[in-house]
Amino acid sequence: MYDYDLLVLGSGPGGQKAAIAAAKLGRRVGIVDRRDMIGGVCINTGTVPSKTLREAVLYLTGLSQRDLYGSSYRVKEEITVSDLAARTQHVITRQTDVIRNQLARNRVAMITGTGRFADAHSIWVDGGSGRESKVTFDKIVIAAGTRPARPDSVDFDDRTIVDSDGVINLQAVPRSMVVVGAGVIGMEYASMFAALGTKVTVVERRERMLDFCDDEVVESLKYHLRDLSVAFRFGEEVAAVEKHQTAALCILKSGKKIAADTVMYSAGRQGQTDDLALEAAGLEADRRGRIKVDANYRTSVENIYAVGDVIGFPALASTSMEQGRLAAQHACGEPIREMHGLQPIGIYTIPEISFVGQTEAQLTESSTPFEVGIARYRELARGQIVGDSYGMLKLLVSPDDGRLLGVHVFGTAATEIVHIGQAVMGCGGTIDYLVDAVFNYPTLAEAYKVAALDASNKIRNIVRIDG
Ligand SMILES: Cc1cc2nc3c(=O)[nH]c(=O)nc-3n(C[C@H](O)[C@H](O)[C@H](O)COP(=O)(O)OP(=O)(O)OC[C@H]3O[C@@H](n4cnc5c(N)ncnc54)[C@H](O)[C@@H]3O)c2cc1C
Repeated sequence: MYDYDLLVLGSGPGGQKAAIAAAKLGRRVGIVDRRDMIGGVCINTGTVPSKTLREAVLYLTGLSQRDLYGSSYRVKEEITVSDLAARTQHVITRQTDVIRNQLARNRVAMITGTGRFADAHSIWVDGGSGRESKVTFDKIVIAAGTRPARPDSVDFDDRTIVDSDGVINLQAVPRSMVVVGAGVIGMEYASMFAALGTKVTVVERRERMLDFCDDEVVESLKYHLRDLSVAFRFGEEVAAVEKHQTAALCILKSGKKIAADTVMYSAGRQGQTDDLALEAAGLEADRRGRIKVDANYRTSVENIYAVGDVIGFPALASTSMEQGRLAAQHACGEPIREMHGLQPIGIYTIPEISFVGQTEAQLTESSTPFEVGIARYRELARGQIVGDSYGMLKLLVSPDDGRLLGVHVFGTAATEIVHIGQAVMGCGGTIDYLVDAVFNYPTLAEAYKVAALDASNKIRNIVRIDG
């Protein structure tokens, strides 16, 4: 009766996984996206380009090797935008190819164009030629993602005043930059440009940044970024940005003026729902363009699901993929398990941050007793070998039963090694497992054993004193 059993709008991580999951269940599946956006924001303007740029910056500047070879160590003296773009383009092309291949292998039909609802069981697809075609479906998963929010008061020109989409297409590495907003994206780009030698100033309305992370880790990050000449203006707001012949002037509400070649706004993101004609399907979005869903990612209309950034928090590629898979399974009538509550957070600043579970502040707030076990990379042979003297792993442990309550990592490979702690926590393991386990040597993973020993020694000491 319908063209497709399940149609997916948007080919980002949520859309891809929804399409493939339904195809694996034998459904007839189609996925709609614009020709130049296969892979979504994730592959084209967000996660993958920013993480590739970071690798290119780390490699070409030689920053991660300077502990070993001295502060003047560089792989390339003059790093140009094309040096950076070459790597980014290469990865985007390869990843797009991988995604196209995965969809094709699973017989997911690729429908090129922009979709908008005609009613709850059909959409119009504008392929760009001016002609629209109608596609019908039994169920649909909206995975339309978000775009950078642009305050009306700011005159974005994609050259001097840019958002996180524009920053990857700059014509030259700026000598100076103001980053407005110290959220994850803002701080990742602030780190990269600071590493490239750009004089970065971060302006943030709030008094703190990344306040969902461990305080000590955020302090360490600030210390490192200040060392790369980053200036922080907390509790300050940008009143206006003036474009002048040679640079822009960022005028703060407090009256301060900051001159910069480039101003990058990282002021949150807006759901891409304004062109979807949601009302035709009986749906609506909130002020920020987000769609409300239930625990199974179903909207208020029975056959319509929504996943990924368009449904809001946590708005990560990692969680979007899982939401897509679960939504498709539910739509196909399969029994589904809930997404595991333990989700790691990875922040690709320089140095990088990752954690899973609770922070010291949250545990204190809920009057949950905990002990801290710390391992410093500089005390590990692998830390010395890779030249990371600042990294650390912190375990928050329940003194009652040794359960891990939180794992916080700062430094080389933080986003990788956090998963060891996640696995132990997810399986209900205690620090005893980490104390008794044998780890490969020399590795950064060995930090778990060192931190677990530290925590268990402290706990034992308290028990001894307490009688
Ligand atoms: C700079 C940056 C860095 C990031 N870094 C990370 C990170 O390190 N780790 C992480 O987990 N997450 C990261 N994210 C977040 C991550 O990119 C998103 O969470 C993820 O891409 C969301 O996936 P999605 O499925 O919602 O779709 P998206 O990737 O947002 O893609 C949505 C797709 O829908 C399409 N679409 C929209 N409207 C229509 C329409 N009407 N018709 C057809 N197609 C349409 C768009 O063209 C687009 O391709 C980052 C984001 C940014 C911006």
